[in-house]
Amino acid sequence: MRIDVVTIFPDYLRALELSLIGRATTGGPLEIGIHDLRKWTHDRHRTVDDTPIGGGAGMVMKPDVWGEALDELLSAPPPARPDHEADQGGQGGGPSQGGAPVLIIPTPSGEVLTQRIAEDLATREHLVMACGRYEGIDARVAEHYASRGVEVRELSIGDYVLNGGEAAALVIIEAVARLLPGVLGNPDSVVEESHGASGLLEYPVHTRPVSWRGLEPDPALLSGDHGRIRRLRRDQAIARTAQRRPDLISRLDPASLDSADRAA
Ligand code: SAM
Repeated sequence: MRIDVVTIFPDYLRALELSLIGRATTGGPLEIGIHDLRKWTHDRHRTVDDTPIGGGAGMVMKPDVWGEALDELLSAPPPARPDHEADQGGQGGGPSQGGAPVLIIPTPSGEVLTQRIAEDLATREHLVMACGRYEGIDARVAEHYASRGVEVRELSIGDYVLNGGEAAALVIIEAVARLLPGVLGNPDSVVEESHGASGLLEYPVHTRPVSWRGLEPDPALLSGDHGRIRRLRRDQAIARTAQRRPDLISRLDPASLDSADRAA
Protein backbone atom coordinates (compact mmCIF):
# COMPACT_ATOMS: atom_id res chain seq x y z
CA MET A 1 0.00 0.00 0.00
CA ARG A 2 1.13 3.55 -0.68
CA ILE A 3 -0.02 6.49 1.46
CA ASP A 4 0.66 10.08 0.39
CA VAL A 5 0.08 12.78 2.99
CA VAL A 6 -0.13 16.46 2.07
CA THR A 7 0.38 18.95 4.89
CA ILE A 8 1.88 22.35 5.66
CA PHE A 9 3.73 20.70 8.58
CA PRO A 10 5.64 17.75 7.08
CA ASP A 11 7.68 17.31 10.29
CA TYR A 12 4.48 16.53 12.19
CA LEU A 13 4.34 13.22 10.32
CA ARG A 14 7.82 12.13 11.41
CA ALA A 15 6.21 9.90 14.02
CA LEU A 16 5.51 7.55 11.11
CA GLU A 17 9.23 6.71 11.07
CA LEU A 18 8.88 5.08 14.50
CA SER A 19 7.86 1.67 15.80
CA LEU A 20 5.90 -0.86 13.73
CA ILE A 21 4.77 1.62 11.07
CA GLY A 22 8.37 2.80 10.62
CA ARG A 23 9.46 -0.81 10.19
CA ALA A 24 6.64 -1.47 7.72
CA THR A 25 8.03 1.30 5.51
CA THR A 26 11.55 -0.10 5.41
CA GLY A 27 11.18 -3.06 3.09
CA GLY A 28 7.68 -3.87 4.42
CA PRO A 29 4.22 -3.59 2.84
CA LEU A 30 3.90 0.18 3.28
CA GLU A 31 5.28 3.12 1.34
CA ILE A 32 4.67 6.61 2.74
CA GLY A 33 5.20 9.93 0.97
CA ILE A 34 4.96 13.18 2.97
CA HIS A 35 4.48 16.30 0.85
CA ASP A 36 4.62 19.97 1.76
CA LEU A 37 1.52 21.66 0.31
CA ARG A 38 3.53 24.84 -0.21
CA LYS A 39 5.43 23.08 -2.99
CA TRP A 40 2.34 23.70 -5.15
CA THR A 41 2.13 27.45 -4.44
CA HIS A 42 3.39 30.02 -6.95
CA ASP A 43 3.60 33.29 -5.02
CA ARG A 44 6.52 34.69 -3.08
CA HIS A 45 4.78 34.07 0.26
CA ARG A 46 3.81 30.50 -0.64
CA THR A 47 0.21 31.28 0.36
CA VAL A 48 -2.13 28.38 1.10
CA ASP A 49 -5.08 30.23 2.68
CA ASP A 50 -7.40 33.16 2.18
CA THR A 51 -10.34 34.80 3.94
CA PRO A 52 -13.72 33.00 3.85
CA ILE A 53 -16.08 33.98 1.04
CA GLY A 54 -19.18 35.30 2.79
CA GLY A 55 -17.20 36.44 5.82
CA GLY A 56 -16.60 34.82 9.18
CA ALA A 57 -13.72 33.95 11.44
CA GLY A 58 -10.40 32.49 10.39
CA MET A 59 -8.93 31.49 7.07
CA VAL A 60 -9.79 28.80 4.54
CA MET A 61 -7.30 26.69 2.57
CA LYS A 62 -7.22 27.60 -1.11
CA PRO A 63 -8.75 25.14 -3.61
CA ASP A 64 -6.35 26.06 -6.41
CA VAL A 65 -3.28 25.05 -4.38
CA TRP A 66 -4.92 21.85 -3.17
CA GLY A 67 -6.10 21.12 -6.71
CA GLU A 68 -2.58 21.17 -8.12
CA ALA A 69 -1.26 18.98 -5.31
CA LEU A 70 -4.05 16.43 -5.53
CA ASP A 71 -4.08 16.31 -9.35
CA GLU A 72 -0.46 15.25 -9.20
CA LEU A 73 -0.75 12.74 -6.36
CA LEU A 74 -4.05 11.18 -7.41
CA SER A 75 -2.74 10.55 -10.91
CA ALA A 76 0.49 8.90 -9.73
CA PRO A 77 0.52 5.20 -10.59
CA PRO A 78 -0.02 2.91 -7.57
CA PRO A 79 2.94 0.84 -6.39
CA ALA A 80 3.54 -2.58 -7.94
CA ARG A 81 1.97 -5.24 -5.72
CA PRO A 82 3.87 -8.34 -4.63
CA ASP A 83 2.25 -11.51 -6.05
CA HIS A 84 1.07 -12.82 -2.66
CA GLU A 85 -0.83 -9.58 -1.97
CA ALA A 86 -2.45 -9.59 -5.37
CA ASP A 87 -4.06 -12.92 -4.43
CA GLN A 88 -5.01 -12.26 -0.82
CA GLY A 89 -5.95 -8.64 -0.40
CA GLY A 90 -5.36 -6.93 2.99
CA GLN A 91 -5.56 -8.69 6.31
CA GLY A 92 -8.21 -6.15 7.25
CA GLY A 93 -10.88 -8.10 5.44
CA GLY A 94 -12.24 -8.91 2.04
CA PRO A 95 -10.73 -8.83 -1.38
CA SER A 96 -8.58 -5.95 -2.55
CA GLN A 97 -10.55 -3.03 -3.96
CA GLY A 98 -7.88 -2.37 -6.60
CA GLY A 99 -5.51 0.43 -7.32
CA ALA A 100 -7.76 3.48 -7.69
CA PRO A 101 -6.60 6.02 -5.13
CA VAL A 102 -8.87 7.01 -2.24
CA LEU A 103 -8.78 10.66 -1.21
CA ILE A 104 -9.08 11.00 2.56
CA ILE A 105 -9.89 14.41 3.99
CA PRO A 106 -9.79 14.46 7.79
CA THR A 107 -12.45 16.81 9.13
CA PRO A 108 -14.53 17.02 12.32
CA SER A 109 -17.61 17.19 10.09
CA GLY A 110 -16.85 13.82 8.46
CA GLU A 111 -18.02 10.27 8.98
CA VAL A 112 -16.57 8.99 12.27
CA LEU A 113 -13.68 6.55 11.77
CA THR A 114 -14.45 2.99 12.85
CA GLN A 115 -12.62 -0.31 12.71
CA ARG A 116 -14.84 -1.30 9.75
CA ILE A 117 -13.67 1.77 7.82
CA ALA A 118 -10.04 1.03 8.73
CA GLU A 119 -10.50 -2.56 7.51
CA ASP A 120 -11.94 -1.32 4.24
CA LEU A 121 -9.12 1.18 3.71
CA ALA A 122 -6.56 -1.54 4.45
CA THR A 123 -7.69 -3.32 1.27
CA ARG A 124 -6.78 -0.35 -0.93
CA GLU A 125 -3.51 0.17 -2.73
CA HIS A 126 -3.23 3.93 -2.58
CA LEU A 127 -4.51 6.48 -0.05
CA VAL A 128 -3.96 10.22 -0.47
CA MET A 129 -4.55 12.25 2.69
CA ALA A 130 -5.21 15.99 2.66
CA CYS A 131 -4.49 17.60 6.05
CA GLY A 132 -6.43 20.80 6.58
CA ARG A 133 -5.54 23.69 8.90
CA TYR A 134 -7.31 26.92 9.88
CA GLU A 135 -11.07 26.62 9.13
CA GLY A 136 -10.40 23.71 6.80
CA ILE A 137 -10.05 23.12 3.06
CA ASP A 138 -12.39 24.89 0.59
CA ALA A 139 -15.39 22.54 0.28
CA ARG A 140 -15.14 22.50 -3.52
CA VAL A 141 -12.02 20.33 -3.32
CA ALA A 142 -13.96 17.31 -2.02
CA GLU A 143 -16.84 18.10 -4.37
CA HIS A 144 -14.57 18.36 -7.43
CA TYR A 145 -12.74 15.05 -6.94
CA ALA A 146 -15.95 13.19 -6.06
CA SER A 147 -17.52 14.49 -9.28
CA ARG A 148 -14.51 13.21 -11.21
CA GLY A 149 -15.12 9.70 -9.88
CA VAL A 150 -12.46 9.73 -7.16
CA GLU A 151 -13.57 7.99 -3.98
CA VAL A 152 -13.51 10.76 -1.39
CA ARG A 153 -13.76 9.89 2.32
CA GLU A 154 -14.22 12.83 4.68
CA LEU A 155 -13.32 11.25 8.02
CA SER A 156 -13.54 12.48 11.59
CA ILE A 157 -11.52 10.80 14.33
CA GLY A 158 -14.07 11.82 16.97
CA ASP A 159 -16.47 14.47 18.11
CA TYR A 160 -13.98 17.14 19.07
CA VAL A 161 -11.98 19.72 17.11
CA LEU A 162 -8.22 19.61 16.55
CA ASN A 163 -6.08 22.41 15.11
CA GLY A 164 -5.13 20.45 12.02
CA GLY A 165 -5.54 17.22 10.10
CA GLU A 166 -2.05 15.89 10.84
CA ALA A 167 -2.90 14.23 14.18
CA ALA A 168 -6.02 12.76 12.54
CA ALA A 169 -3.95 11.48 9.61
CA LEU A 170 -1.56 9.77 12.05
CA VAL A 171 -4.52 8.08 13.75
CA ILE A 172 -6.06 6.91 10.47
CA ILE A 173 -2.73 5.67 9.11
CA GLU A 174 -1.96 3.70 12.26
CA ALA A 175 -5.44 2.13 12.37
CA VAL A 176 -5.10 1.08 8.73
CA ALA A 177 -1.43 0.12 8.54
CA ARG A 178 -1.53 -2.28 11.49
CA LEU A 179 -4.03 -4.35 9.53
CA LEU A 180 -1.65 -4.88 6.59
CA PRO A 181 -0.11 -8.35 6.41
CA GLY A 182 3.27 -8.47 8.13
CA VAL A 183 2.98 -5.21 10.08
CA LEU A 184 2.14 -6.72 13.47
CA GLY A 185 4.54 -9.34 14.85
CA ASN A 186 1.62 -11.62 15.75
CA PRO A 187 -1.27 -11.47 13.25
CA ASP A 188 -3.58 -13.01 15.91
CA SER A 189 -3.35 -9.69 17.78
CA VAL A 190 -5.99 -8.20 15.50
CA VAL A 191 -8.38 -11.14 15.77
CA GLU A 192 -9.67 -10.85 19.34
CA GLU A 193 -9.34 -7.18 20.09
CA SER A 194 -11.89 -4.46 20.83
CA HIS A 195 -14.13 -3.48 17.89
CA GLY A 196 -13.50 -6.82 16.18
CA ALA A 197 -15.89 -9.44 14.87
CA SER A 198 -17.41 -10.20 18.30
CA GLY A 199 -18.74 -6.64 18.59
CA LEU A 200 -17.42 -6.54 22.17
CA LEU A 201 -14.65 -4.60 23.88
CA GLU A 202 -11.65 -6.71 24.79
CA TYR A 203 -11.55 -8.42 28.20
CA PRO A 204 -9.07 -7.02 30.78
CA VAL A 205 -5.49 -8.26 30.29
CA HIS A 206 -2.81 -9.01 32.90
CA THR A 207 0.81 -10.09 33.06
CA ARG A 208 3.31 -11.03 35.76
CA PRO A 209 3.73 -10.47 38.68
CA VAL A 210 0.55 -12.37 39.50
CA SER A 211 0.09 -10.31 42.66
CA TRP A 212 0.70 -6.57 42.39
CA ARG A 213 -0.12 -4.05 45.13
CA GLY A 214 -2.69 -6.43 46.55
CA LEU A 215 -4.43 -6.91 43.22
CA GLU A 216 -4.74 -10.27 41.51
CA PRO A 217 -6.46 -11.36 38.31
CA ASP A 218 -9.29 -13.91 38.43
CA PRO A 219 -7.82 -17.27 39.60
CA ALA A 220 -9.39 -18.98 36.56
CA LEU A 221 -6.64 -17.37 34.45
CA LEU A 222 -4.06 -19.44 36.36
CA SER A 223 -6.04 -22.69 36.08
CA GLY A 224 -4.60 -23.81 32.74
CA ASP A 225 -8.18 -24.79 31.79
CA HIS A 226 -8.56 -23.17 28.37
CA GLY A 227 -12.34 -23.64 28.22
CA ARG A 228 -12.74 -21.95 31.61
CA ILE A 229 -10.42 -19.11 30.60
CA ARG A 230 -12.30 -18.59 27.33
CA ARG A 231 -15.65 -18.43 29.20
CA LEU A 232 -14.26 -16.03 31.82
CA ARG A 233 -12.87 -13.71 29.16
CA ARG A 234 -16.11 -13.76 27.20
CA ASP A 235 -18.07 -12.88 30.39
CA GLN A 236 -15.61 -10.11 31.24
CA ALA A 237 -15.82 -8.70 27.70
CA ILE A 238 -19.62 -8.63 27.89
CA ALA A 239 -19.64 -7.03 31.36
CA ARG A 240 -17.06 -4.42 30.33
CA THR A 241 -18.92 -3.59 27.12
CA ALA A 242 -22.27 -3.33 28.92
CA GLN A 243 -20.76 -0.99 31.48
CA ARG A 244 -18.66 1.22 29.21
CA ARG A 245 -20.37 1.03 25.84
CA PRO A 246 -24.04 0.06 26.15
CA ASP A 247 -24.47 1.33 22.58
CA LEU A 248 -22.30 -1.57 21.36
CA ILE A 249 -24.32 -4.11 23.35
CA SER A 250 -27.54 -2.89 21.79
CA ARG A 251 -26.01 -3.41 18.33
CA LEU A 252 -25.05 -7.05 19.00
CA ASP A 253 -26.73 -9.66 16.84
CA PRO A 254 -28.83 -11.76 19.31
CA ALA A 255 -27.82 -14.83 17.29
CA SER A 256 -24.21 -14.25 18.35
CA LEU A 257 -25.13 -14.72 22.05
CA ASP A 258 -25.44 -18.01 23.93
CA SER A 259 -27.37 -18.73 27.12
CA ALA A 260 -24.27 -18.22 29.28
CA ASP A 261 -23.86 -14.77 27.71
CA ARG A 262 -27.34 -13.81 28.84
CA ALA A 263 -26.45 -14.76 32.42
CA ALA A 264 -23.17 -12.77 32.33
N1 SAM B 1 -13.96 24.84 11.03
C1 SAM B 1 -13.92 23.41 11.08
C2 SAM B 1 -15.22 22.88 11.65
O1 SAM B 1 -15.76 23.50 12.58
O2 SAM B 1 -15.68 21.81 11.22
C3 SAM B 1 -12.78 22.96 11.96
C4 SAM B 1 -11.44 23.13 11.32
S1 SAM B 1 -10.15 22.48 12.31
C5 SAM B 1 -9.76 23.84 13.34
C6 SAM B 1 -8.80 22.41 11.21
C7 SAM B 1 -8.52 21.07 10.61
O3 SAM B 1 -8.24 20.15 11.64
C8 SAM B 1 -9.62 20.44 9.81
O4 SAM B 1 -9.64 20.91 8.49
C9 SAM B 1 -9.22 18.98 9.85
O5 SAM B 1 -8.21 18.69 8.90
C10 SAM B 1 -8.62 18.84 11.22
N2 SAM B 1 -9.51 18.28 12.24
C11 SAM B 1 -9.96 18.92 13.34
N3 SAM B 1 -10.72 18.12 14.08
C12 SAM B 1 -10.77 16.93 13.47
C13 SAM B 1 -11.41 15.68 13.76
N4 SAM B 1 -12.17 15.51 14.83
N5 SAM B 1 -11.23 14.67 12.90
C14 SAM B 1 -10.47 14.82 11.79
N6 SAM B 1 -9.84 15.98 11.46
C15 SAM B 1 -9.97 17.02 12.29
